[in-house]
This record gives sequence, C-alpha cells and structure tokens, in this order.
Amino acid sequence: MISVAIDGPSGAGKSTVARRAAQALSFIYIDTGALYRTIGLYMSQRLEDTKDAAAVEKLLSQISINLKFIDGEQHVFLNGKDVSAEIRTPQAAMHASNVSAIPAVRVFLLEMQRDFARENNVIMDGRDIGTVVLPKAQVKIFLTASVEARAKRRLAEHTARGEHIDFNELIKEIETRDYNDSHRAIAPLKCAEDAVLLDTTALSLEESVEKVVSMIRKTLCGEKSIK
Ligand code: C5P
Repeated sequence: MISVAIDGPSGAGKSTVARRAAQALSFIYIDTGALYRTIGLYMSQRLEDTKDAAAVEKLLSQISINLKFIDGEQHVFLNGKDVSAEIRTPQAAMHASNVSAIPAVRVFLLEMQRDFARENNVIMDGRDIGTVVLPKAQVKIFLTASVEARAKRRLAEHTARGEHIDFNELIKEIETRDYNDSHRAIAPLKCAEDAVLLDTTALSLEESVEKVVSMIRKTLCGEKSIK
C-alpha cells in the first residue's frame, strides 16, 4: 500500500489539495482533523471545559466514530449520526484543538488512522501524520501559507456556506490554534525531517494541487510497483 502524509497548519489548503490529489491518483483521502473535531463536538456538548483531560478521557469510551465514503466524499459518523456538517464551525475547531492535546484522545484515534493506511492507498492530512501516525509514509509533504492567506481562504469557505464570520476573529482563531497545535507536549505540529515543504501563499489552488500530484508521482515512479 502507498501512504501519502500531508501535514501543516490550519487553512494551508491541506484538505482541498489532498482531496483533489487523491481523486487524480485514485487514492482514498482521509481528513484526520474531522476525527478530532468529532471528539471536540461530543465533549463540548457534555463538558464546560474541553481541556479537562480527566473528564474527556472518561467520556471517550462512549464514543464510536466511523468514516464512510459517499460519492468519494468522507462522511464522519458519531455514534451512528452523520456529523460532517456540524463539525465545520470555528467552535468545533477550537474544541478539536483542545481535545487534541489530550494524550488519551490521540491514542484513541491512532490505530483507527493506521488501519485505513493498512487497507488502502491513502492521502492522509493532519498535523502529525508524517511524524507519528504514518512515519513510514512513502511521500511526506508539509503544506504551509501565511496566516493572512489562510484566513482569507477560511473566510471564502464560510462565505460560500452563507455564514458571516469576522476576518479578524478568524486571524485570531488561526493564530491561537497554530500556537496550541505546535506547542502541545504530545505529537505537536511540526515538519517531519524527511518531508518536502510547500508554501502555498502565492499559489492558486490548481497550482498547489498540480505541485502535490507531481511530487507524489515523482516519488511513486521510484517505487517498483503499486500494490
Ligand atoms: O484540520 P482541522 O482544522 O480540521 O483540525 C482541527 C484540529 O484538530 C486542529 O487544530 C488540531 O488541533 C487537531 N488535529 C490534530 N492532529 C491531526 C489533525 C487535527 O491534532 N492529525
């Protein structure tokens, strides 16, 4: 099986680029942020403080998460309910960031993510895919962009969904998440030593996809065969 790890901060374009690249190569795309968002959502509905490690750990056993692919799109099910739309709010993102710093949460999701890569050719995006989840991934890409560029992209996504979000709030939210994600003790966001860094600040979506697909193809041409 072939694994491609795409890591990077929020809004660098990982999910769109990874999804399109997966389509181009007929790989399965796994958005691991959705798993953390799902746990964040569940905890936020039950706890005052989603950073409370002991309380979160206690509730984890009540959670069952499944991924299904409907028309090539990943849908995430929380205890049987499709929460794919519900997890796409800035609040769910913040709760995801909170719970993602809790070791028990990362352990809970680790094997689930590895199982996908054992059974499928995958492009997986996240924060620690190249460093922790799939350290042996054949291709590792660290996708980044300036905070302003990332906030503009997030704003466009919210506007497309008819949601009004304040631009400065988005900048603040991205900076806070960047800080939390790269300073947590366990599996912090960082570029794997053997990853290729791609800065998409000045690139269009199409250019980013093209670059990522060609990086993957180049590496895979060196592989003897794709099983
Ligand atoms: O990628 P997305 O913005 O959906 O991720 C939401 C949050 O989940 C991130 O800010 C990060 O805290 C956490 N996350 C993580 N490890 C991953 C994917 C996401 O810690 N592999």
